[in-house]
Amino acid sequence: MPHDPVPGLLSRATELLEAEFTALPAWESTADLAGTAAIERVLEAVAHRLGDNYPYFHPLYAGQMLKPPHPVARAAYALAMNLNPNNHARDGGRASSEMEIEAVREIAGMFGWKEFLGHLTSSGTLANLEALWVAGQIAPGRRIVGSEQAHYTHRRISAVLKLDYAEVPADSRGRMSIVALESELRKGAVGAVVATLGTTAMGAVDPLDEILALRERYGFRIHVDAAYGGYFRLIPESLDEPARRAFAAIGQADSIVVDPHKHGLQPYGCGCVLFRDPAVGRFYKHDSPYTYFTSKELHLGEISLECSRAGAAAVALWATQKLLPLAPGGEFAQRLARSRAAALELDRRLRGDGRFQPLATGSPELDIVVWKPRAQTAEEASRRAREIFAACARRDLHLALVELPLTWFHLEESGSIAETPRPVTCLRSVLMKPEHEAWLDQIWERLTAASMDVMAQADKRPE
Ligand SMILES: *Cc1c(COP(=O)(O)O)cnc(C)c1O
Repeated sequence: MPHDPVPGLLSRATELLEAEFTALPAWESTADLAGTAAIERVLEAVAHRLGDNYPYFHPLYAGQMLKPPHPVARAAYALAMNLNPNNHARDGGRASSEMEIEAVREIAGMFGWKEFLGHLTSSGTLANLEALWVAGQIAPGRRIVGSEQAHYTHRRISAVLKLDYAEVPADSRGRMSIVALESELRKGAVGAVVATLGTTAMGAVDPLDEILALRERYGFRIHVDAAYGGYFRLIPESLDEPARRAFAAIGQADSIVVDPHKHGLQPYGCGCVLFRDPAVGRFYKHDSPYTYFTSKELHLGEISLECSRAGAAAVALWATQKLLPLAPGGEFAQRLARSRAAALELDRRLRGDGRFQPLATGSPELDIVVWKPRAQTAEEASRRAREIFAACARRDLHLALVELPLTWFHLEESGSIAETPRPVTCLRSVLMKPEHEAWLDQIWERLTAASMDVMAQADKRPE
């Protein structure tokens, strides 16, 4: 369990914070009337209850998108809890609003944006909601289009916003099919296209450069959902050419969402939405001239659909980016590159092992690996995937499962592409911790041992 790396750092910082307020008359808090013994008993119960979790902090947890917050983020968050600021307005969080503006400017800078409008949100979903809401304000009655691999919430968000949503198929690598997108565009009335740079299921990167070319011809907004993948912009040298081109083009999008609480080492409650044109601020506040939104007096509550938001989330993000600036080649980028290297290495081993079938068409684009057990039928492969998943968990290796079209794994078997896409349950591993690289032998050992168990069981089953 990652304890605070340097005990005492947080209490020293807390003393410094207290010293900022010494001019006030002394007072007694009534909050701790329950007494320390009672609090201690409750905390013991909490620790016990929290034991009923997967060990998200450990490198053998390689399942869903979960990454421990950086110690500096946890400490800064805890420090801010002494004040519990609210970033809905400067009155509620004066310092933390400033810190949010600075931190968000750094995130925008990562995409090459200097003049923009942006703020933190409590999640990627809320951030996407704001982006699609703005798209709907700009082009009322027009459709939103995303790929079948776009995050499931885009459809739901569109329904909430009363915007029609159309789904276009993905290709065999999970990327939005450009041919399918263009035929959707020909039908007309498309207000915005959601390009996902780093899909949730498999880290696929939609061909943003090609979508941009279509924007020239058909005219629509482009919203980039990079909730998961945004930070990969910092490591182009680690990406394959198509993904590199997509990330290079990200600055030409109309809006971008990135989740610091996914790859940005933050506690939950930290998404971010950015708009290339600051004038979209006019949709949030009707009685203010839009020039207000380019001024330095940015008032976060007036450019956000949410009201109360954790100021502590902004403080934690600001602190993390001070320690680990969002710079290509920097420590933050190097950690990300290690995750990417771990994914490529796992994929390489899977490809060299006859028991497994990774994607037919190529290696992972980011740090998420998907593969299926090789089997006679889709049903058998799905069953084995579930059994391997469980057998790995018994060995303390935690993977995830995902449903993907069977054809993506069977391209060599001609004719299968034309079939109606049949789903197969696959194994999935999100290798988002830098430690995963060093732990790959351990992961591989457990995965292969678990697979051997499952195969042995399958051999014993009556036909
Ligand atoms: C996680 C994710 C979301 C949703 O973000 P939350 O922070 O979980 O609300 C949206 N899009 C993509 C691509 C994601 O990976």
